[in-house]
Amino acid sequence: MYLKMVLLIILNQKDKNLGDQKSILFIIGGGIAAYKSLEIIRGLRKVGAKVRAILTNGGSQFITPLSVSSLTGEKTYTDLFSLNDETEMGHIRLSREADLIVVSPATADIIAKMANGFAGDLALTTILANNKPILICPAMNLEMWDNPSTQKNIKILKNNGVLIVDPEEGEMACGEFGVGRLAEVETILNQINNFFLDRPLPLKGKKVLITAGPTYEAIDPVRYIANRSSGKQGYAVARSLRDMGAEVTLISGPTKLKAPSGLNFISIESAQDMFEAAKTALPSDIIIGVAAVSDWKAMTKNTEKIKKEAEKTPTLQLAENPDILKEISSLNPNSRNLIIGFAAETKNLILNAKTKRLKKGCDWIVANDVSLGTGTMGGDQNKVFLITSDETEEWPYASKDDVAQKLATKIKDHFKGPLDDK
Ligand code: C5P
Repeated sequence: MYLKMVLLIILNQKDKNLGDQKSILFIIGGGIAAYKSLEIIRGLRKVGAKVRAILTNGGSQFITPLSVSSLTGEKTYTDLFSLNDETEMGHIRLSREADLIVVSPATADIIAKMANGFAGDLALTTILANNKPILICPAMNLEMWDNPSTQKNIKILKNNGVLIVDPEEGEMACGEFGVGRLAEVETILNQINNFFLDRPLPLKGKKVLITAGPTYEAIDPVRYIANRSSGKQGYAVARSLRDMGAEVTLISGPTKLKAPSGLNFISIESAQDMFEAAKTALPSDIIIGVAAVSDWKAMTKNTEKIKKEAEKTPTLQLAENPDILKEISSLNPNSRNLIIGFAAETKNLILNAKTKRLKKGCDWIVANDVSLGTGTMGGDQNKVFLITSDETEEWPYASKDDVAQKLATKIKDHFKGPLDDK
């Protein structure tokens, strides 16, 4: 769905970017994620880009030149030295005729060699001889990614102006879990598109703090108080603002979602942890509380599991959690900031949301009805009202991505217009 949206955006702007026959030299490294390069190439071809590929020796252990060529419609170059290739299309021409070189998956090995100027095969020679921008999409085991050598090499490449689509968190092919897997295909397509569009980034320089997802409040080591929040809306808002160039910190309670790339992601459990993490992200220009923070926590933290005893039902005493949004807003020194709360209500939606806006010192409140049956809590769609100091706007029922995009546009417009001191 999101991939379709990205492709549609690219298609609609065809004249400006990939449609006017942008040439991409696509270098496929030797990792399990090599198969995903086929999907990326397909996405690029769909929007009219010309793609030429070099399949490294490692890459050809995972996919074949034939499968690559059937998508590029071009000869696929391999690391095997061929005099024909060199006269027809030498490594210098391969790089000169491209507008952008994409390396995906960029293995730890390619990254190390690129950082140190190695030129031992066709891919590396082409990269070293290139005078074009390079975008790499690292993918590797989490320990390899975390390794100080890899991080040092990444730093060198960044300093050399290489663009990087950060790897994402998730389960690896090896079964381990962590940061290192190739970014989603749509994320990579989006970044390639951004590169060609040279899109103005209206929120560049703006610091954004977003809370998302539920919080878990421990009752004892095995039980906790939680809620049905999926985090989908908060993550979507974070992605939309990131794509407008904002520097986003996303503080998330436990969700099943993958941490979006290209932002500062902090994972927490309890409201207190969320509060502490939020304080570290101050000052911020924009604060958005999308999290469904538990209003209460267990009064006493049981370090041992509460045992079931005959005829003795334990009572759970609750204590109030800090109101993160309210506290953070008052701590934030920036007087020109924008503070947005989300109000999930099951009745008197608008009235309750308006009261909340004033009580929490928010500029805007996004109100949504989460009564059972609306399917908005945990679902993919949302139906919201945007409440500001002067109006209540009803937004149509839409995907959470669309709601996020609309909210991001509103935020962008807010910062574009004259800002009165609040
Ligand atoms: O739960 P409630 O309806 O009061 O939430 C309204 C807004 O306040 C939301 O933006 C939520 O993220 C935020 N909130 C918070 N800390 C709390 C409760 C709510 O930041 N303890």
